Amino acid sequence: MSDIKTIGVLTSGGDAPGMNAAIRAVVRAGINDGLKVKGIHRGYMGLIEEEITDLDTMSVSDIIHRGGTILNTSRCKEMMTPEGQKLAADNCRKAGIDGIVVIGGDGSFRGAQRLSENGINTIAVPGTIDLDIACTEYTIGFDTAVNTAMEAIDKIRDTSASHERCSIIEVMGRTAGHIALWCGISNGSEYVMIPERYDGEEDKIIEKIMKKRKIGKKHHIIVNAEGIGDSMGLAERIEKATGVETRATVIGHMQRGGNPTCHDRVYASAMGAKAVDLLNEGKTNRVVAFKDGEFVDYDIDQALNMTKDVDEHLYDLVRRLSR
Ligand code: ADP
Repeated sequence: MSDIKTIGVLTSGGDAPGMNAAIRAVVRAGINDGLKVKGIHRGYMGLIEEEITDLDTMSVSDIIHRGGTILNTSRCKEMMTPEGQKLAADNCRKAGIDGIVVIGGDGSFRGAQRLSENGINTIAVPGTIDLDIACTEYTIGFDTAVNTAMEAIDKIRDTSASHERCSIIEVMGRTAGHIALWCGISNGSEYVMIPERYDGEEDKIIEKIMKKRKIGKKHHIIVNAEGIGDSMGLAERIEKATGVETRATVIGHMQRGGNPTCHDRVYASAMGAKAVDLLNEGKTNRVVAFKDGEFVDYDIDQALNMTKDVDEHLYDLVRRLSR
């Protein structure tokens, strides 16, 4: 057990639905364990500019079901410099914060490493819709985002079917194709394009559309990942090559918003509480993860060196089920 008395919590980088559930869990678990809890606003920017407020159990009431983050988030250039990192750690000490929970993606984890090096016990929690953190099978927000994308594609499918069109739908995921892959299966798409497997495959898509037309298929759903992009150009080229009217839709930021799913609320709550446990145990430079059915933790340096591929079985499934 440690002598930690006051902890801080911040959200950093891209927001994700479920971050509020994680904040709530940090606050409530911390207070339940006899700690004081402070909220840092606008990510690392709020540490540098000392936007720090006390949080009590009521500060986090009525937020578990809300998307976004009540603490706001930012991208903070100052945190990339040694001076900024030292100032952030000094400001923690000034506010009496001896342990901090950073909820964000792998960029935010690098900031967490620096805080830890500067003497502040720091625990990271994976919050990103992209599912692109190698040490964990779950990241906060993926489930909500992928369900939002799936529902949007269902709607596009209706109009695509009515007009007998081909629809290219671009989903988020930065350089990772997890959202695209899951939509590829759940939306019954004909083709999914993901950066992890992309080989300039437009010919294969065109061939597939032509083949499907011959057996009577009148509309087509192609899911394209943000990491490949160029959906408008792709639509033009497909229309030209196949003669099938083709439209592109980039779903965009709506995938980041909305009420978190039950899965995101429960797992984000568990991860937030686990982060408090780790601080209570005197740990630092750790990241909470979900692996093989359990909530576990890894050293952040080790976690950032891990690599993750998309699930080959799922990728193969899209192909098998769309023949
Ligand atoms: P995400 O956490 O969603 O991956 P970013 O990559 O934008 O988002 O990172 C969020 C913030 O984390 C950055 O704006 C910066 O303040 C901090 N950060 C990112 N990389 C580093 C780094 N190498 N060193 C220190 N801080 C970093």
